[in-house]
Amino acid sequence: MQAILAPTTCGSCGSVLVWRNDLLFCEDAQCPAQISKQIEHFAKTLKIKGLGPKTIEKLALSSIHEIYSLDYDLAAIALSSKKLVDKLVAEIEHSKKATLNQLLPAFSIPLVGKTATEKLSTTVGNIAEITQDKCHDAGLGTKTTESLMGWLEDEWLFGRVGKLPFSFEFEQKAPQQEAHGTVCISGKLKSFPTKNAATAALCLHGYDVKSSVTKDVTILVNESGVESAKTKKARDSGITIVTNLLNFLGEETNGNIA
Ligand SMILES: [Zn+2]
Repeated sequence: MQAILAPTTCGSCGSVLVWRNDLLFCEDAQCPAQISKQIEHFAKTLKIKGLGPKTIEKLALSSIHEIYSLDYDLAAIALSSKKLVDKLVAEIEHSKKATLNQLLPAFSIPLVGKTATEKLSTTVGNIAEITQDKCHDAGLGTKTTESLMGWLEDEWLFGRVGKLPFSFEFEQKAPQQEAHGTVCISGKLKSFPTKNAATAALCLHGYDVKSSVTKDVTILVNESGVESAKTKKARDSGITIVTNLLNFLGEETNGNIA
């Protein structure tokens, strides 16, 4: 039996390695091996084709910023092909359209991947709006929040990330326009003074209202408890029957009913 000793220093920069979850890490921010891994991850995440490890090495890129300040002639010499550089430049240009949804996971921020980014996109519109509270509201854990807030301070507030050619805006989610369903009201209402008032409230909540139980009706409102012909028809067709419209709309607003 021979003991295998784990290395204690980074093979690339000589820094003392640190154990994190059974894996050894070099924590030196200037470590060339780490920087090229970060650039590689960035290019991969933003789907910049042709910017793999070999190209990164040939172009001697030492930061993400250098991707966006590539010197055409020097790159053509480094890659010994203008055609390759043309393709790469087009890919880089295209990557500038990336939203923060794609961009944030590309920065190799510990614990901040696609999942954390998607969560965050529900509480903020752009990078400048990210705060500890917003991270908490988005459901990010303490460690993830700490990691992100630390990165923001170093790289966004006091660093050069803001100089990168991106909007730093999260994707604008289209407001929910699709109809929730079609409602038919049967009999007298109790939770609304009139059918017109109920219809207006339903429309405001994104429902269509029909006067009879047509094929597209998905919800029947029956607050009177009278088993009308409409109610019977609805019940037979498996349509949801609501007995208190006000509560129904209230619950829906609170997100209890999807
Ligand atoms: Zn290192």
